Amino acid sequence: MPAVESSVPLLSLVVPCFNESAVLEQFYAAATRALAELAGIEMIFVDDGSTDGTLKILQTLAATDPRAHYVSFSRNFGKEMAMLAGLREARGDYTVILDADLQHSPTLIPAMLSAVRGGEYDCAAVVRTRAGDAPMRTFLSRVFYRAMNFLSDYEMVDGAGDFRLFSRRYKDALLAVGEHHRFSKGLFPWVGFQTKWLHCENAARAGGETKWSSRKLALYALDGLIGFSTRLLSLISWGGIITCLLSLAVLGYLIVAKLVGAMPTDGTTTLGCIIAFFSGVQLFATGILGQYIAKIHDEVKNRPHYLVKEKR
Ligand code: UDP
Ligand code: MG
Repeated sequence: MPAVESSVPLLSLVVPCFNESAVLEQFYAAATRALAELAGIEMIFVDDGSTDGTLKILQTLAATDPRAHYVSFSRNFGKEMAMLAGLREARGDYTVILDADLQHSPTLIPAMLSAVRGGEYDCAAVVRTRAGDAPMRTFLSRVFYRAMNFLSDYEMVDGAGDFRLFSRRYKDALLAVGEHHRFSKGLFPWVGFQTKWLHCENAARAGGETKWSSRKLALYALDGLIGFSTRLLSLISWGGIITCLLSLAVLGYLIVAKLVGAMPTDGTTTLGCIIAFFSGVQLFATGILGQYIAKIHDEVKNRPHYLVKEKR
């Protein structure tokens, strides 16, 4: 019997859940239905410090289905940490990360799995359209991806989220990255390997509400920019060099103006504006430096990525 068992590849589903009591049972039903053909699956739900009935539902699922497991955090550590915990627990030959709200349809998993099982690809990722998203969010996302792709060396595909299925060596590569400010959208291209792209329409949440406030999203975007590029620091240096050259040019102009007697009589307003402007530029540049220092500070403390309250 063990010989037969070990020849069936195991697929681990990693599902981060933060206050998802409205959709969890629906998710479980949809996933079991979509994966009924697969012999070896395990589901690893990560309760990211939910304050609704999420943990209760997960305890019931784990008690009734031996394929269902959960890890519950002591508080909300964020989706990145939930995904990390799920990957650490996953024992599968293949692993797929998907959201609990059914925006990542489990019906796509068989196609993703066959792409990776073929051996040519180590990862199958789903790119969604942005149809139905708020126009402002779409616009800000576009700006972010442009900035990100300009500033970093790793190509990030607009619309590609965390809905990915990958091989064990791809998972091990993701786990080998130990940084505390994790930004998976950047880690996926960073680890490399071949990725098969699948496309799907944008789907609405099956229930409940989005857990990403504008503030959380902005901080996450900043994690990406700081974590995946030091080019912002080079841009500051270049800004400094260009400003120096400009001031030399202005100085030259003033010397000539003085010599030919065409010196502007009162430059108080101009001077005030220049001082205010460059004070702003300097504070901005110091702020960017500060962001990098803050990240170093967080990494150096080397606290655990998350704390587990209970697991099963
Ligand atoms: N999530 C999480 N921790 C958080 C925020 C979100 O584990 O702090 C989970 C959430 O439960 C869901 C997934 O991450 O399964 C995606 O979140 P959501 O659907 O709210 O984001 P959106 O689809 O609106 O970007
Ligand atoms: Mg969602």
